[in-house]
Amino acid sequence: MRLTVIGTGYLGATHAACMAELGHEVVGVDVDRGKVPALRAGRAPFHEPRLSDLVARHTAGGRLRFTTSYEEAGAFGQVHFVCVGTPQRRDCEGADLSHVEHAFGAMGRHARKGALLVGKSTVPVGTAARLADDHGVEIAWNPEFLREGFAVEDTLRPDRLVFGVRTPRAERLLRCVYGPVLAAGTPLVVTDFATAELVKTAANSFLATKISFINAMAEVCEAVGGDVRSLSEALGHDGRIGREFLRAGVGFGGGCLPKDIRAFAHRAAELGVDLGFLREVDAINMRRRDRVIELARQLCGGRLLGARVAVLGAAFKPDSDDVRDSPALNVAARLDLDGADVTVYDPEAMDNARKAFPLLGYALSVEEALRGAELVLHLTEWPQFRVIDPRRAAELVRRPRIVDGRGALDAARWTAAGWLFRALGGPPPRPTAS
Ligand code: NAD
Repeated sequence: MRLTVIGTGYLGATHAACMAELGHEVVGVDVDRGKVPALRAGRAPFHEPRLSDLVARHTAGGRLRFTTSYEEAGAFGQVHFVCVGTPQRRDCEGADLSHVEHAFGAMGRHARKGALLVGKSTVPVGTAARLADDHGVEIAWNPEFLREGFAVEDTLRPDRLVFGVRTPRAERLLRCVYGPVLAAGTPLVVTDFATAELVKTAANSFLATKISFINAMAEVCEAVGGDVRSLSEALGHDGRIGREFLRAGVGFGGGCLPKDIRAFAHRAAELGVDLGFLREVDAINMRRRDRVIELARQLCGGRLLGARVAVLGAAFKPDSDDVRDSPALNVAARLDLDGADVTVYDPEAMDNARKAFPLLGYALSVEEALRGAELVLHLTEWPQFRVIDPRRAAELVRRPRIVDGRGALDAARWTAAGWLFRALGGPPPRPTAS
């Protein structure tokens, strides 16, 4: 089929490349004139496992093209996927739909007769119905559940597909687009617009709630000297609760979860439904960042001014270079404001981190970041950080003190190597030689 993908960010570039991989002819459309030439040359605009290979292969093979012209895209496609951003509004917690409005408006004007416009962006419930009324084109809503770091895998082999449709024809077209995915046995839920929109915001709200639940338990553990890692392990054995998303740490960030739960609570309030618990989920999440700073201050003898702090991690999660609302960078920037001498290292997100926080110090390797540090903060769970040798690391730092903000390091190993080791929700420190 001939498809277009409007918006070539984390979602759209992945979707475009994966649709080409499924055998479709695809044109990606973006208004960012800086992004399109790189994509045309076969370069993925960000780090995502396997994406560079797909973009390079399918642009070279001619199945994947990119343009800034809606006219060209409209004349080309039978199905147009709208993947533009829906950031938080500046004046309130609701979603900024201006990019979505623009994309549907422009494609509505340029699309061929009979084309289907499919929304994939995460939007407040009620948006699809309004867009269908406003633009008089056939619309479907097909929310996206990909996880950054696994985006290609999740697009080619999703755990489910959701089609919000009003007509059998829209469903038929989407079944053709996703033919190979459905043939592989992927579960499909066909529903109305509102429910399709809600599946996405409900899923993100559930995941955020689970993370904040265990982080609230971490707060209780800190108050009584318990150990949230053991608590989490014991809870996870209960099949009704499950182990996933139950690791205490510095909390969630990124371009989706924080803004999506705020937008959902905001939209629900407009509809007269009180989802105030999501505000508490948000507040617990933000408090974990404060807790890391509090621990850092304690470990630096109550004074951050001039303290040399190594921050391991800048991306909001591993296997991504996305630094949007990254807990690691948020903590790093706040320590910097408090006068600490902060050095950040991340395997993939250095360029984005530098753009977002140009005044922070950056190192080119873990070793460089650790050298001379009085405190180490482990804030993004990259596999590289998990295998750091604590004995070797102790030789590099000035003082062996570490906060594991991801609950991922082996406390016993680090302690045995002479480190003062603190984790969020962890037991109080054991005395060490230093
Ligand atoms: P992004 O900011 O990385 O990408 C958005 C892209 O859209 C940018 O390249 C921008 O230049 C382009 N754009 C903006 N207005 C445009 C217009 N009028 N026409 C054409 N292009 C335009 O955002 P993202 O992370 O890809 O997220 C996009 C949407 O997908 C959001 O609603 C998000 O909540 C949702 N989503 C994201 C993910 C994820 O993991 N990133 C997962 C599921 C859903």
